[in-house]
Amino acid sequence: MRDFSGDHRWLSLNTATVRRQGDLAQIIEACARHGIRAIDPWRDQVATIGLDRAVRAVRDAGLELSGYCRGGMFTSDAAHRIEARDDNRRAVDEARALGAPCVVLVVGGLPQYSRPGSVASKDIAAARTQVDDAIAEMLDYARTVQMPLAIEPLHPAYAADRACVNTTKQALDICDRLDPQRSGALGIALDVYHVWWDPELLPQIARAGKDRLLAFHVCDWLVPTTDILNDRGMMGDGVIDIKSVRSAVEAQGFDGYSEIEIFSNAWWEKPIDEVVQTCISRHRSVV
Ligand code: ZN
Repeated sequence: MRDFSGDHRWLSLNTATVRRQGDLAQIIEACARHGIRAIDPWRDQVATIGLDRAVRAVRDAGLELSGYCRGGMFTSDAAHRIEARDDNRRAVDEARALGAPCVVLVVGGLPQYSRPGSVASKDIAAARTQVDDAIAEMLDYARTVQMPLAIEPLHPAYAADRACVNTTKQALDICDRLDPQRSGALGIALDVYHVWWDPELLPQIARAGKDRLLAFHVCDWLVPTTDILNDRGMMGDGVIDIKSVRSAVEAQGFDGYSEIEIFSNAWWEKPIDEVVQTCISRHRSVV
């Protein structure tokens, strides 16, 4: 396993971590101040300052990307299907313009939450079938511009409103169905927050192998968690044995960024430099 204790060369900042402290341009400036080499920006943050300006800011700062957040929300009723498809094609185009290595996919839960305005449904099996079909369609498009897609399994608490792909096994099953040749076009984004509890995690990481491991996200699971979406912990403040997961991922040959992604009402209240400095020190000590 790589030694992170001496520097933060392999730290990437998911820009949602400091989304309330500034716009994307200000976040990029903060990364430059602290010697951070990579980010994973969100589409809404890019849209706020404009794609062209975002591309220039990333390039001028010499930043790499560790992903682009996010595509997906595939589940919808028939009336919203074209909207979902076209929205995801735009995500691929933006990722390409920004030089991202992959588009991270949060696949959507039930249609009424994934694409608001859709007719309500309780059929999670149908939602999962729709996800398979929509990823296949997006993959056809993404392949034409060589943009890999990374399916992020989300904790089961999000099955209704954010993602009905809830385990690493489920995500890898989709990868095997749609990309049996393991071409590199389809893989997973592994986020310790979502997968740490899974008794099958380590064998599934071994099953994934280097070619399916496209992104690695870290934060921590607080006990108690007071808000299932926006109470993620800083690494080291919760119960996840992050080093053991990173060790398993790196045993497969993963050599990319360790991306810090913290949605936290508490950390969003703090000054950006304090958050970034804490990320750096925890990256060295507990990631
Ligand atoms: Zn994540």
